[in-house]
Amino acid sequence: MADFAQQLIEWQQQHGRHSLPWQNTQDPYRIWVSEIMLQQTQVATVVPYFQRFMTRFPDVASLAQADEDEVLRHWSGLGYYSRARNLHAAALAIMQQYHGEFPQTHEQINTLPGIGRSTASAITVFAYGQSQPILDGNVKRVLTRCFGIEGWPSQPAVEKRLWKLAESLLPKADIQCYTQGLMDLGATLCTRSKPQCDNCPVRKNCVARKEGRIPQLPTPKPRKALPECEIVMLLLIADNEILLEKRPASGIWGGLWSLPEVAMGENVQLVARQRLGLETKLLPALPLVTHTFTHFRLHITPQPLQLLKILPEVRQNGLVWLDKEDAIGAALPAPIRKILLGMGTN
Ligand code: SF4
Repeated sequence: MADFAQQLIEWQQQHGRHSLPWQNTQDPYRIWVSEIMLQQTQVATVVPYFQRFMTRFPDVASLAQADEDEVLRHWSGLGYYSRARNLHAAALAIMQQYHGEFPQTHEQINTLPGIGRSTASAITVFAYGQSQPILDGNVKRVLTRCFGIEGWPSQPAVEKRLWKLAESLLPKADIQCYTQGLMDLGATLCTRSKPQCDNCPVRKNCVARKEGRIPQLPTPKPRKALPECEIVMLLLIADNEILLEKRPASGIWGGLWSLPEVAMGENVQLVARQRLGLETKLLPALPLVTHTFTHFRLHITPQPLQLLKILPEVRQNGLVWLDKEDAIGAALPAPIRKILLGMGTN
């Protein structure tokens, strides 16, 4: 643990970033504006915006006096406009509550509009040299990889664990260098894809690197539950032959051969008679087959029907009877082939 901070500090001193327009200052206003601009935005994009913003609004008072439209105009193109509205609101709050003096405690700063725990920490570290942990997206990536922490980092229990870890890693000295080092490591070496581990100061202890888990960490956000859809597929059997139906050209499995599809709850024998022209006898249903598409999950109940009679008055366009082997070899969707392969094994 102690190694982590020391290695990062030494690396930052030699290889970190030292001349960004918001560095080499202890002005909490400049540090605050830069931290807000840097949320979800790359350094290269932020630099010209930051310089224009500082020229027009050089301090809290000038920002508070401007009208919101003008602040938003200076933000135009940076995106996430609530950040600009919150900056303006916080400048007004500083004028009213603190007589224009930027507050100095983490607690006070954390209560200003748009300033979360990590941003409040960065301001207190760089402006006042206080020892506070930061935990933005880049830092979460570094910590989950380096310490092999599973779970989506914004999930409350995981985030709580990461805050505790970030607190425990704080060095006794050089807090500014350490904090800047964490930011620099996450932004320049420990990137989302293709991190440059060979140049990383903490590579020797990095769990993700040692265990080959870099692609899995940080754990991605859990996907939302997929919509579920249930259908019945008719497995029409005559001797060793099976009926396949050509699917419409558009929609799922467009143009492939498949089993005739019926909505859940429909009378399958009636459908077989009216749509396919077949008199049938119901056989026991086969086990459910589930197939997952990117946007929904399909549950298929295969329903075998024994053919009794073909009704000549119903046209049978797009239908074909094939023996089982030929049917399995036809252009079928994977789950339908699975159903045919499973026939007779149940
Ligand atoms: S060794 Fe690689 S994965 Fe581990 S912290 Fe360094 S850059 Fe990130």
